[in-house]
Amino acid sequence: MENPLTPEVLADPVQLTRALVDIESVSLNEKAIADCVEEVLRGVPHLTTHRHGNTVMARTDLGRSQRVVLAGHLDTVPLNNNFPSTMRGDLMYGCGTSDMKSGTAYALHLAVTLPEPRYDVTYFFYEAEEIESRYNGLNLVAEAFPEWLQADFAVLLEPTYGIVEAGCQGTMRAIVTTTGERAHAARSWHGVNAIHGAGEVLRRLQTYEARRVTIEGCDFREGMNAVRINGGVAGNVIPDLCEVEVNYRYAPDRDPAAAEEHLREVFAGFEVAVTDAAAGAAPGLEAAPAKEFLAAVGAAPIGKLGWTDVARFAAMGIPALNFGPGDPNLAHHKDEHVEISKIRDGAATLHRWLAPA
Ligand SMILES: [Zn+2]
Repeated sequence: MENPLTPEVLADPVQLTRALVDIESVSLNEKAIADCVEEVLRGVPHLTTHRHGNTVMARTDLGRSQRVVLAGHLDTVPLNNNFPSTMRGDLMYGCGTSDMKSGTAYALHLAVTLPEPRYDVTYFFYEAEEIESRYNGLNLVAEAFPEWLQADFAVLLEPTYGIVEAGCQGTMRAIVTTTGERAHAARSWHGVNAIHGAGEVLRRLQTYEARRVTIEGCDFREGMNAVRINGGVAGNVIPDLCEVEVNYRYAPDRDPAAAEEHLREVFAGFEVAVTDAAAGAAPGLEAAPAKEFLAAVGAAPIGKLGWTDVARFAAMGIPALNFGPGDPNLAHHKDEHVEISKIRDGAATLHRWLAPA
């Protein structure tokens, strides 16, 4: 295949977005797109390029006092009759237009066109973000070549519709169990109904007042919800077990241990088993490159409510935020699209931030 990422395409973030979208790269099928990106980067004299699996990274080594990472994943969710891209007015439709090839295009465009950025930059194009974390290229490189990710600040170019979404909430799942005693439904007074017992669990969730926390100027709104309920033996049996699965999204001023403690407080008197937990990430807006980035954006940041790979950077001690042109509400939708003007605005912002003064 001839590489569609020609110099003319690389010079224009819009054309580059479209070219990247038109290289199919559903998770675990990123070889073709990684080959194209790698070939481009290896041809750029001011970059050192490295590849691990289908993750490609390139860095400047200009001896700057600060280093930043610009990161984008190369994969998409499965196609849904939305490949290749199509244009309708100011909108580019197609799988990956919003999440996140328009963002990934920024990194590739800047890597090629900016030989002397104000900071040293590590450009990071990774595989398998949309599937289980054991395949995630950022995870794999963090394990195998952590030095490739050392930096003072990272921008993850995920869709945020052109604003800064900083940090992210943590997430925890737990099973709250009620127990009882089986009996024939005809003589129910001989048993204890565990499903009725779960009523109190649901009542506590219903009356739960979720916190709103402001951290570094960013609002984080927590939530605690029942997401599944299991119980019952048979149509004529008083059930002796009921399990309510609870999902708790918590602000990054709590770590998983503090979140678990809070969960156990809320469900005091019940058996609670945590089944899954991921730490959040503080906004991390204090680093000098982060402050300068915010100045270039010129709009107030908000807290990221979902869990994203910024938490993986935070776990490595690297403050990170999300910034990309796509609308996050369109990610993974059949009608996924991105506004051309948003692509241009974001590219100008990144240029203001990174271009030499
Ligand atoms: Zn994404």
